[in-house]
Amino acid sequence: MNTVAAPTIHCIPVLSDNYVWLIEGLDGATVIVDAGEAGPVIEALEDRGLTPVGTIITHHHADHVQGLGELLARFPMPVHGPDSCRRHGVDHVVGEGDAFEVPGIGRFEVMATPGHTQDHLTYVLGRHLFCGDTLFTAGCGRLFEGTAAQMLHSLDRIAALDDDTQVYCGHEYTADSLRFAAHAEPDNPDIAARVNEVAEKRSRNEPTACASLVLEKKTNPFLRVREPVLRSAIEAYVGQPLPDDTEAFAMLRHWKDDFDGLARL
Ligand code: ZN
Ligand code: FE
Repeated sequence: MNTVAAPTIHCIPVLSDNYVWLIEGLDGATVIVDAGEAGPVIEALEDRGLTPVGTIITHHHADHVQGLGELLARFPMPVHGPDSCRRHGVDHVVGEGDAFEVPGIGRFEVMATPGHTQDHLTYVLGRHLFCGDTLFTAGCGRLFEGTAAQMLHSLDRIAALDDDTQVYCGHEYTADSLRFAAHAEPDNPDIAARVNEVAEKRSRNEPTACASLVLEKKTNPFLRVREPVLRSAIEAYVGQPLPDDTEAFAMLRHWKDDFDGLARL
């Protein structure tokens, strides 16, 4: 069986700014993406009459796994995820190149996307991509465990997927990320337009952590490190020419942390 045509994706806000995604397929069969908190997820499943048939976990951070035990106590189900998350309830360990079929939903392909953490996995279901804290809408995860080279490689692999792929990220960070994007590329009209769109959506309290890959390529600085305009801006920030794309990416990530008040050069 291939991917079921057009699963319905529900966005469930948990904790302060995390999202759990629910992938609804045939007859209410539903896969849960990440598990930072159980209560709102159980409520959403019950309100919609959905039947959870599995959970997929992106990485070991508490805001993505700490609700898993409570979810499993309520709904025993298989959990796919990285080896590091066995103690949280992962019983189907997957990694780079693996694929698995969920009846009523379709075939998930697994990519190892280290950078934010070493164990980070990204799941591809047809044209839907669940990327946790690797790619964010208009941004990318901080480098807590991995290197800039790893993160750039992970993002390059995601960027190589079809342009009409929809990305679903783990946090509501888009407005913050766009503030930096507009700072780094002040003359990019697509970024300026997206700033307004996202502000409008947030004023209606709508989630903005899902977007098409083509929009990300136009507006996400972390997918644009090879654009000459951005490269020049990064070099101006650092104050010297940079030898390669990896160093430019590392300095872009540093610049964003600096912009957020999280780091000093
Ligand atoms: Zn994380
Ligand atoms: Fe997170």
